[in-house]
Formats: sequence, structure tokens, C-alpha cells
Amino acid sequence: MARNTRIVIVGGGYVGMYTALRLQSKLGADEASVTVIDPQSNMTYQPFLPEAAAGSVEPRHVVVPLRKVLRKCHVLTGRVTAINRERREVTVEAAAGHVTQLGYDVLVVSPGSVARTLPIPGLAEHGIAFKTVAEAIYLRNHVLSRMDEASSTIDPALRRKLLTFLVVGGGYAGVEALAELADMSRYAARYYENIDRSDLRWVLVEAAGRIMPEVSAPMGRYTVKQLMDAGIEVFLDTRVKSMEGGHVVLDDGTEFDADTIVWTAGVKPNPMLANTDLPLDDKGRVTCGASLQVEGSPEVFSAGDCASVPDLSKSDPNAKTSPSAQHAVRQAKVLADNVVAHLRGRPVKPYKHSYAGSVASLGLYKGAAEIYGIKLKGVVAWFMHRTYHLSRMPTFNRKFRIVTDWTQALLFRREVVALGQIHEPKAEFSRAIGQEKKP
Ligand SMILES: Cc1cc2nc3c(=O)[nH]c(=O)nc-3n(C[C@H](O)[C@H](O)[C@H](O)COP(=O)(O)OP(=O)(O)OC[C@H]3O[C@@H](n4cnc5c(N)ncnc54)[C@H](O)[C@@H]3O)c2cc1C
Repeated sequence: MARNTRIVIVGGGYVGMYTALRLQSKLGADEASVTVIDPQSNMTYQPFLPEAAAGSVEPRHVVVPLRKVLRKCHVLTGRVTAINRERREVTVEAAAGHVTQLGYDVLVVSPGSVARTLPIPGLAEHGIAFKTVAEAIYLRNHVLSRMDEASSTIDPALRRKLLTFLVVGGGYAGVEALAELADMSRYAARYYENIDRSDLRWVLVEAAGRIMPEVSAPMGRYTVKQLMDAGIEVFLDTRVKSMEGGHVVLDDGTEFDADTIVWTAGVKPNPMLANTDLPLDDKGRVTCGASLQVEGSPEVFSAGDCASVPDLSKSDPNAKTSPSAQHAVRQAKVLADNVVAHLRGRPVKPYKHSYAGSVASLGLYKGAAEIYGIKLKGVVAWFMHRTYHLSRMPTFNRKFRIVTDWTQALLFRREVVALGQIHEPKAEFSRAIGQEKKP
């Protein structure tokens, strides 16, 4: 192997961070340099975002600082805007604003996915996705500040709109975000003298005939029932036609006003991939073999939400692995081992993993889980959700902080402080300056 082999990793999420962690432990410093490029300096543990939004865990604890854990790697804060595998270089727009080209000997392509949107009037203005810690923090403050506004208005129509919350998309991200935020808002209602729990209207709209495709149909039905028992309105086989001005129109004729619209209707591969000469499938995912090497380029690897990886656990030869943390983490392990094998001239191994199932939290002490076909419900599933994700949370430091958060929430109950000012940090100062300017 050539000394100073340059390994470049595009994206420091599940695949990128776990690959870098394994490479830094397997490769000597004189063997290769590893550079991780990400616009964020943290990896986000996305399955904990709903709990971060609901205030059960501190948002800072669901992210992992890349520089802290990747001590033997270089971390470059910037966004990759293009990849040229012919010239073996990536184009990076650094956080400081300048654009630079970076050469590589081995490339790992793992920029993940982005929210899949539809041309729905009003979506761009009124919708918010649920994929980043910033969105989780924003939503928490937004929901609580809607309640503050609703409690102070004398306009009944405005009050109804402020207290109506819509989530579009019934995958685990949407269902968990909805269940956790609804739980939090109902808990917070006890502190408002003029808002009753029943004044809060939470609505889930899903285009398919079922929710949570990650679990079996009976578990999907169970989850719908749990949500409906908790007073959440669920519309299946229904599409949102428009949401202009926050006025929501569904294709079954239902209309209502909502001041909060969370868009979780699926993901699509990172659109940056279109700006590369990598082979892409019809969905825009990087086409890989089972060894996670990109077709025609053994020095380029890919995995996770952005990659089309054969699912060897299925009998269908065209089956691909689904976009999930479960696959991303396991693929990262095989990917890192195959990078080392590739560098040392050893045979690479195929990725094969049967999907173990899914665990979902439906608010405090409620959950739905299906693991290797075994169905778990209620508090058992909720406990399973917490223990599983805690075990997957990278680093002891983060695990400890999460457990401490849960313990505090248990002892002192849920924190329902709205810090809406953090979204307009200069507002008070500007007001002060404006007042000073007055004669
Ligand atoms: C709310 C929520 C809950 C979830 N719950 C579960 C669950 O319970 N179980 C489960 O299996 N899965 C769950 N998932 C899905 C899971 O988180 C993803 O499948 C997983 O994160 C995919 O890993 P990845 O490495 O491909 O992408 P990511 O983890 O998203 O990482 C991609 C990284 O690339 C970076 N990036 C983006 N663009 C660029 C660029 N141009 N240049 C450089 N870097 C870039 C991003 O900043 C990010 O750090 C959940 C997702 C969400 C949003």
C-alpha cells in the first residue's frame, strides 16, 4: 500500500462517522490519512430527535462532536458540491466560503438523504422538515410558543389555527415526532389556565393505506389505534392538496387551518449526487455492489441512505437495502473493513444483513416494536426503544448524558420552557437600538 494514502469521506453522519471511527482504529497514521467533510461539525443521532423535540433529552446530547471522537482524522467543515471520479477529486465549499478541490486515493460517498418534497402550494412557506437537531429545537419552541399565543388571543379562529398541528407522512420519523410533540403539548396544557388538552388538535396525514411501513401491517394498525386513542386524527389514503396561508386542503375534501405543518413524507438521496460522474440508479442513488464499492471504481465506496446496495438477505435479486440507521451502521462496519482490505490487497467481503425490525416511541411510556417478527407493545416496546437506541448511541459520554437526562425528566417531570427568542436573538437589542433612536 502506498504511504500517505488519502481517504476522503463525504458526510460525517451514520455511515461517515462510523466508517471513520473504524478506520482510525484499524489503520496506522503512516498508512493513510482520513479526512471527513461535513457542513456540520457534529453527527446527529436522528432516532433521538423526537425525544429532543419533546424535551425528554437535551438536544446537545443527541449530537456527537466529530472532532472529539475522530481524534486521528482530519475534519473539514464544508459542503461537497461535486465529485469527479475521473480526476479523483472532490469540490468542497468550505464553511469559510472559499471553494477548494481535494484529491483522493479512496473515496467514501455518504452524504445521506434529504426530505422528499412535492409541488404542493404553500409547502415551501409553511412546511418544516424533521431531520436535523435545529428543526427539533425549532419545533419544540414553535409548538410551545403557539400555545402562548393561543392563550393570549381573543380571536377564536386564530386560536383554533394556532392549536392545530399537522404532520404529513407516517413513517417512523413522522409518527414519533407527532406522538412525542403531542404528548409534550398536552403535558404543557396543564400550566395554561385557558387551554385544555382537548383544545389541542394533532392531525396525521398519510398518502398510503397504512403507517410505519417498517413494521408489519398488524403493528401498523396497532400504532394507528394507539394514536387515535390518544386523540390524534389519522387520515390514511389521503393527500394534502394545498396549504397556502396555512389553510390545509386534503384530497378527501377536508379543510382546516394549521399554524404548524411538519413534512416527513419520505426522503430522497442527496441531490448533490447529480453533480458527480458516479453511476446513479433511477432513484438517484449511487449504484454499488454488495461489497459497497461503486460500479466500475473499486476505490470509491458508498452506503447508507444515498446508496443503492443489493439486499442479499432477500430472495429477489433486485432487492435493495432500505434507508435506515440499522443498515447504515452495519454497512459502515463492512465498508471500513473493505477499505482496509482494498488498501492491503486482500479480498473484500459482501454486505449481508436481515432487517431486524423496528422500534418506535409513541410518547412517554408508549411504544410499538417488532423485532425479528416478535411484536412488542406499550411500555415494553417503549422501554425497548430506549434501551436499543441508547445501546446504539455512539460514545460512553453521550450514553451517560442521555441516561442523566431521562433520570432528571423522571424525577422533575418534563421541561416545558419555550425559548422562542433563540430564533430571533437580536430582536430585543434591535428594539433597544430603535428606542434609543427615537427623539
Ligand atoms: C427523526 C428520524 C428518526 C429516525 N429513526 C430511525 C429509527 O428509529 N431506526 C432507523 O433504523 N432509522 C431511523 N432513521 C433513519 C436514519 O437516521 C437514517 O437512515 C440514517 O441516518 C442514514 O445514515 P446516512 O449516513 O446515510 O445519512 P446521515 O446520517 O443523514 O448522514 C449524512 C451526513 O452527510 C452530511 N452531508 C449532507 N450533504 C453533504 C454534502 N454536500 N457534503 C458533505 N456532507 C454532506 C450531513 O450533514 C450528514 O451529517 C430516522 C431518521 C429521522 C430523520
